Amino acid sequence: MDNFVFYNPAKIIFGKDQEKTAGEWIRKYDGHKVLLHYGGGSIKKNGVYDTIIASLKANDLPFVELSGVVPNPRYSLIQEGIALCKREGVDFILAVGGGSVIDSAKGIAAGVLLNEDEDLWEDYYMFKRGPEKALPLGTVLTIPATGSESSRSSVVTNEATHFKRSMAADCMIPKFSIINPKTHYSLPPYQIACGCADILAHLMERYFTPTENVDFTDRMLEASMKTVINYAPLAIKYPTDYNIRAEIAWVGTIAHNGLLNTGRLGDWASHDLEHELGAIYDIYHGEGLAITFPAWMKYVYKQNPKRFVQFAQRVWDVEFSAEQEERIILEGIHRLERFFTELGLPIRCSQLHIDHSRFREMAQKIMVNRDHEGEFMKLYEEDCYQIYCLSE
Ligand code: NAP
Ligand code: FE
Repeated sequence: MDNFVFYNPAKIIFGKDQEKTAGEWIRKYDGHKVLLHYGGGSIKKNGVYDTIIASLKANDLPFVELSGVVPNPRYSLIQEGIALCKREGVDFILAVGGGSVIDSAKGIAAGVLLNEDEDLWEDYYMFKRGPEKALPLGTVLTIPATGSESSRSSVVTNEATHFKRSMAADCMIPKFSIINPKTHYSLPPYQIACGCADILAHLMERYFTPTENVDFTDRMLEASMKTVINYAPLAIKYPTDYNIRAEIAWVGTIAHNGLLNTGRLGDWASHDLEHELGAIYDIYHGEGLAITFPAWMKYVYKQNPKRFVQFAQRVWDVEFSAEQEERIILEGIHRLERFFTELGLPIRCSQLHIDHSRFREMAQKIMVNRDHEGEFMKLYEEDCYQIYCLSE
């Protein structure tokens, strides 16, 4: 096990009707003027918007609004948000929506406090570095998926350069996040599937580690993966079952709050491979991961077959027999693909009408400002290209 520091100060306020308390929490964290940041309008249809406005008004909190965050949030809207916050004297940001809204809010929160000579995109997003200060931020999470409600990171697409990159810092961890699983009832089945694929991917990125002797975190990861595997199909089948939604919502937060990578390195190549797909083809993050993760697995499993046998056996209940190591590994990967397929997700690029024509370009872009990609097995441009080919 590696040395580690675990720090996650995000206060999680979980349960029915909790979004009504948003204004009180902003007051407790000393907010006086709020930027209400949200996406394309789902919160207006499911009533969350009205509840939040009522809560802000009840707490005498003046606010300005910035809507229009899209999946794969755009850097240009962050720039607009930074200018708006400076103009209006905003001192607290409330993100109401999914990972895209929260990540956009984190970019704004950090951008408002940058020095004149700093460039948020070139100095931070392009180098995976995080700034030292940011405006305080709260979230009301409407889709369990990214874990951004308690993570240190923000992932954003620069539409001018077609790069999708992330930055991370403790100052961007939300002060509080409100999670009411009832507000997730309105999600279309495909978004539930994408969200669950992302949660499972966050767990698998941590599971496929080069670090030895990490049994306790392995066991927590396996329990979390089994929770996603058991409850994702149920969430689609019974969309208004509170307890099923609650299981998914809570595992989604725990999957990415830092606890499950204590004492170990994660991999993250499958995420970065997906970000290149998202940057060019603007696909949903979860659907992209259902494509890149199995392809990555097929390319790297020989690096440490024992770990893949453990994955097949403990997570997918594949019968173990020492002589059949490779068959067991491939059966584990097959069961992962079958899980994604049963959720209605693609597992090959061709299912999204993406052909190989830009695979080389994506493999080149992924190496910009990086020595190598991934940790379980160190990857370079040609490896990434081969993985894209396996995903075709
Ligand atoms: P999202 O992009 O925030 O939202 C996806 C869609 O779901 C939107 O069209 C949104 O519509 C809709 N939606 C959200 N809540 C809804 C509800 N309750 N009812 C009906 N529709 C709803 O999805 P996401 O998966 O949470 O975020 C994906 C982004 O986060 C990607 O860019 C990904 O790379 C990034 N990410 C970040 C981290 C991190 O730690 N920062 C980790 C992994 C991934 P509206 O716009 O109308 O609301
Ligand atoms: Fe993710």
